[in-house]
Amino acid sequence: EAKADGRNTLRFFDPKMQELALARSVLEADLRHALKRGELDLHFQPQCDRQGQVHGAEALLRWQHAQRGAVPPAEFIPVAEQTGLIIPIGYWVLRQACLQLNRWAADPATASLTLAVNVSARQFHRSDFTDQVQAIIEETRVDPRRLKLELTESALVEEIDDAIAKMERLRRLGVAFSLDDFGTGYSSLAYLHRLPIYQLKIDRSFVAQVPEDANGAAIVHTIIALGRALGLAVIAEGVESPRQLAFLGNAGCDSYQGYLFGRPMAAAAFNARCGSAADALV
Ligand code: C2E
Ligand code: MG
Ligand code: MG
Ligand code: MG
Repeated sequence: EAKADGRNTLRFFDPKMQELALARSVLEADLRHALKRGELDLHFQPQCDRQGQVHGAEALLRWQHAQRGAVPPAEFIPVAEQTGLIIPIGYWVLRQACLQLNRWAADPATASLTLAVNVSARQFHRSDFTDQVQAIIEETRVDPRRLKLELTESALVEEIDDAIAKMERLRRLGVAFSLDDFGTGYSSLAYLHRLPIYQLKIDRSFVAQVPEDANGAAIVHTIIALGRALGLAVIAEGVESPRQLAFLGNAGCDSYQGYLFGRPMAAAAFNARCGSAADALV
């Protein structure tokens, strides 16, 4: 197999590559301990209507490494997926998200918020995924209608019938699904209408192109029209400027998430943003 790679065969002897492999295995070893050392934390990014009224949040995982400081998810989530560590970590994230929803439920300022949690393909395809979600819902007694799960198209290309069955089962409990990074994966329009999702999430790469780029604008219009035609809500991620917001609003987008409305932030800052007094007391 290495031979078929031609000139790339040499990569096994490249000291740069060896260094990378070593850094990766160190990262993996550290990630194994991150959970029990309490180095993982959830941040919350507002999801808003056009006026900036917060109606929900996306939970985004943060790793504060003892020596290295903050390690970005783009670096450690792939390692977690490849090593299987995403299973215990994903369970922890879901449980923490439900506990957060319960804290929000106790304050009128945050009681109606929804919380979207990212679910990896590897996590979702486990045969016990739905059992785990159900167990967390029962244990925490969270209102499942406040819990949203974000899946990517790539998580849904394989074993589509099994995926739909899992989504249906969780939907019967009240949990809703959003299709994350929409437009970047391999979704087939042939099965999109079969998916029991309530929302499409327009990928940031398209949002970044509007209003200037004609192709980007056409793609955004098309995704929103597709959502409309299928009876789905549409949220845009990565909204950074008022011009992007104006474009998306005119195009018929329902919800917005991005630095324009707020960065991912710790729970206390998020609660303050929502006008909750919960953290002012501590
Ligand atoms: P994602 O689910 O698409 O999350 C959105 C990412 O865009 C987040 O990056 C967020 O901080 C960033 N973002 C939001 N608004 C803006 C903006 O206006 N401008 C720019 N430039 N960026 C914006 P983050 O937190 O680094 O997470 C990256 C990815 O890591 C996520 O992409 C998601 O795929 C994954 N991830 C994060 N937390 C979890 C988790 O708990 N479980 C799993 N399985 N994956 C996670
Ligand atoms: Mg997401
Ligand atoms: Mg996304
Ligand atoms: Mg993304």
